[in-house]
This record gives sequence, structure tokens and C-alpha cells, in this order.
Amino acid sequence: MSASGVSRRWVLSTLAAVAASSRARAKSVAQSQWDLIIVGAGTAGLPAALFAARRGARVLVLEKGAQVGGTLWFSGGQMSAAGTRLQKAKGIEDSPAEHLADIMRISRGTANEDIVRLAVENAAGTVDWLESAGLTFGPGFPVAGTGHEPYSHARVWGAPDRGLAILRVLEKELTTAPASLSVLKSTEVVEPILDRRGAVLGVIAKDEAGVRRDFRAPHTVLASGGYMANTALFQSLNGVPKYRAAGWPMNTGVGIDIGRSAGGWVRGRENYLCDFGSIPADLEIPSPELARSIHHPERREPWEIIVNRAGKRFLAEDLGSVDEREHMLLTQPDNRYWLVFDEDILRNAPPLVRGAPPGELRDWTTQELADAFGVAPAFTSAATLEQLAVGAGIDPRNLVATVDEYNAGQASGHDSLGRTHMPRPIKRAPFYAIRHQGATLIGVAGLAVDDKLRVTKPDGAPVAGLYAAGELLGNGTLSGKAFCAGMMVTPALSFGRWLGENLPLAKRG
Ligand SMILES: Cc1cc2nc3c(=O)[nH]c(=O)nc-3n(C[C@H](O)[C@H](O)[C@H](O)COP(=O)(O)OP(=O)(O)OC[C@H]3O[C@@H](n4cnc5c(N)ncnc54)[C@H](O)[C@@H]3O)c2cc1C
Repeated sequence: MSASGVSRRWVLSTLAAVAASSRARAKSVAQSQWDLIIVGAGTAGLPAALFAARRGARVLVLEKGAQVGGTLWFSGGQMSAAGTRLQKAKGIEDSPAEHLADIMRISRGTANEDIVRLAVENAAGTVDWLESAGLTFGPGFPVAGTGHEPYSHARVWGAPDRGLAILRVLEKELTTAPASLSVLKSTEVVEPILDRRGAVLGVIAKDEAGVRRDFRAPHTVLASGGYMANTALFQSLNGVPKYRAAGWPMNTGVGIDIGRSAGGWVRGRENYLCDFGSIPADLEIPSPELARSIHHPERREPWEIIVNRAGKRFLAEDLGSVDEREHMLLTQPDNRYWLVFDEDILRNAPPLVRGAPPGELRDWTTQELADAFGVAPAFTSAATLEQLAVGAGIDPRNLVATVDEYNAGQASGHDSLGRTHMPRPIKRAPFYAIRHQGATLIGVAGLAVDDKLRVTKPDGAPVAGLYAAGELLGNGTLSGKAFCAGMMVTPALSFGRWLGENLPLAKRG
């Protein structure tokens, strides 16, 4: 046989093999063709999946964890919504327009008005849906705000089981979901599939054995949560160290990586704000929260003083606005402060500390508070103010001068910072200091989207085929440079629901 004959047979057989392999590949792509891929089976991802599947769409949810629910396992689960059936039943007249106005007021105009409008206009529908599906809220709700700057109306709801109560309802909804909805757990999405023009065609994910697979669909929703489990990414996006260890451990920010590699961008770093009242479990950062001080004047007027690392007071401790206190803390070194008091105040003041999850959510007794000194790293006690300052890491000379000045103001009734609630001086040993750390539970900066929740490029053009919802958008988008109650959970659920109901999914005959 001639060399050319061998060559022709070889070419023909190779061509046949290539054709067979591409037929097989086409078949496997067709078999794995979905209408919608959702990255993450959490707060935003589950409603997106449920509502899209109810429209007949073939939906694939890819979940990195071995279980669904994401941050709902830990979340306080407080939801804000205006115009709900439950509000009407209680005679509360409220509207999304007033909710929007409150958020823009509290955030001093720094929240993203378009995205907040979409959130508040869909919030009541979300609460009504969950309530119809069996979610019940605790006694005492709704409230205007708890621990955050209050709204003008009582529109914040919370269930005794917090976020878990919402998850239980979503899990129940999953049991009756159409068969066109599939959830693939223990599958970590790692990167997008892009065409030559940059449109997103799906994602690449790997299973527990590390085997990578392509998953393709015309629409991909990033609902993979924020990036609290990625300390370096948190710091680079928010411009501050990650002081608090919080959030769902799977949420390392893959949505940020995917969004950016598809041309998207991150916004909102300028909205970073830290909360007030958090006692860290240890002195290394990021530290979990041990407990919270009761700093809401409507619940407890202050008996103690607040000082920074320099041993100086920086606000009147009875300042009524939570938001103003948070902004003042933001200007202090390391966003850190200490509550300082004495034996008289320890024994006579109303409960100061409240347990935080995973501990019991109740006020500590005086004895429990006394027992924490010498045991919990953030709690320091000493026989003199100088020793207290040295032990706690505060400037000793300034602390003594600050306490002297406060005591003089307390005696005369004229405090240098204008504080009026001063029941006792600080003078009977032992003395006490509790270190507090301002921090966030949620990254403030997040992936930019438009009012259809399409991931956008810096010029505002949408990335074809890519959407985002949930914490990935950043707290700053929905609350601006402020903390607005219930403005992460409700928007995550609502945006998932909105995408499920409104994505331009192809009609199925
Ligand atoms: C302690 C705490 C208390 C809070 N309390 C409140 C509150 O009371 N009210 C409020 O409004 N907000 C609160 N929040 C915030 C709110 O709960 C969250 O922002 C919200 O639940 C996040 O929803 P999500 O859908 O974006 O993320 P999640 O619900 O976390 O869902 C993301 C999912 O994506 C999965 N995932 C991550 N990476 C990948 C990957 N590579 N591939 C596949 N899957 C992936 C995760 O495993 C997870 O299941 C709180 C947060 C914390 C931490």
C-alpha cells in the first residue's frame, strides 16, 4: 500500500472519529442544557429556582455545600417590608415609597436608589408569600428597628428561630417544586464559560473529587453569597481589615471572581461603616462575636463611659441615634472602644450584656457579667484605673484624666460632652473595662448590577447572560453608609423571586 493510500485511510478514519466525537459531545451538551443555572442554594438562590421552575423552566442549582440554606443557618432573619398583609391586619398603613424614603434618609442618600426601589417594591410580596407558605413571626413584631436606626413605621419582622425559620419554609417549598428543578450539592462553581464576545454561556464546576464539568444555560444567576469567608478579598474590597469572623463558611466570593472575569465590576467601598456594641470573643482578628452590649437608649440608658484606645471619650454615651454612634466609631483607631465602669455600676446598673448566637440570646445576670472578667479576653478588671488601662491596652494617663473629668461633670450635672444620664461616678474599685470592636457581618462593596439585576460593566452595559442577587451585591448597595434593618434577607429573597418570575426564559411547548 502506498504511503498516500495509508495517509488517505488514516485521514478518513480520523475524520469519522472526529465527527462521531462531536456528535457525542453535542448530545451530551444537549442533555445538560438548562434554561437557567443558579450558583448557590441559599437565601437568594432557592427562591430564584422555585419561581423559575414554576414557570416550567429547567433549572439547575449548583451548591458547593452538602446542604442548602447558606447564611440562613446563622442569620438573624429579620425582614423589612412595607405594605404586607400582616401590617394591614394590624392597622399599619405603610407603603414601599415610604420604605424607600426611610432608607434614603437613614443612608443620607448613599444607598443605590434604583436597586432599593426594586427591593422595597417586591418586599411585601415576599413576606406575604412566605407567610402563606407557613412562616410565622414572633410576638412583639413588627418593630420600627432593633439595634439599627429606626424606620418611620413598624415594618421589621423576625421569627423566634431567626433565619432558620425562613429556611424551613423554603425547604418545604422545595418538596413540592416541579421536577424540572434540580439541585446538585457538593458542587463548587469555579469559573464562567464565556463566548468570544464575553457573553456568559454557563459555568464550570467541580465535584468533591475535583472533577470539573461544564454546565450551560442561556441565563446564569450568581447567588453565591458574599465573601465573608475570604479575609483577603474582604480587606481588598472594603479597604479595612476583616475584624469579625462571621457568615457562611462557603462564601469565599466566587461570584465576585466570576462577575469580574466576565467584565463586571465592584462598587460601594466608600460606604463602609462599622456597627456598635459588639464584644469580640478573642483579641485576634477576625474574631467571632461573644456577646453584645445593650446600647439602645430606648432599652437601657448608659451608666458606663466609652473611651477609645487613647483613653478619651469621643461621644456622649446617651446619644440617641444608633447611626450617629456608628459614624463616630468609624473615626476611632481600629474602630475599637472600651466601656469603663466600677464596682458600684457593676452591682447596680441594669443588665449590660446580651448573649449573641451561638450563645443564648438573653441578658446576662450581674453574676454572669462579673464572672466574665478574668475569663473572656475582652473583659479586664483591676484594682486601680492605671492598672486597668495597662491591662486593657488603653493609655493610662489619659484614662485617669478622663474618669476624673467625667466624675466632676457627674457631680456638677454638666458633662463636657453634653451627656445627661450620669447616675454614678466611676470611683469604687475594682474597675472594669470591656473591649468592643466595630465591624460588619457583611461586605459593604459588591458586584454592580442594573435594575434588572443584570451584572454590568463599568460603562453600564450588561454582561449578556449573567445576573446577581443577594449579599454579592454588598450591604452598601441596599443600605448605603448605614445599617437599615432587614435590608439583606428580604432583598435576597425578593431578588431571587423576582429573577425567577421575570427572567426572559424561553417558552417551552
Ligand atoms: C450572623 C448574621 C446575622 C444576620 N442577620 C440578618 C438580619 O437579621 N437581617 C438581614 O436582613 N440580614 C441579616 N444578615 C445578612 C443576611 O442573612 C445575608 O446577607 C443573606 O442571607 C445572604 O443571602 P445570599 O443568598 O446572598 O447568600 P447565602 O444565603 O449564604 O447563599 C449562598 C449560597 O451559595 C453557596 N456557594 C458559595 N460559593 C459557592 C460556589 N463556589 N459554588 C456553588 N455554591 C456556592 C453557599 O454554600 C450558599 O449556600 C445576617 C448575616 C449574618 C452572618
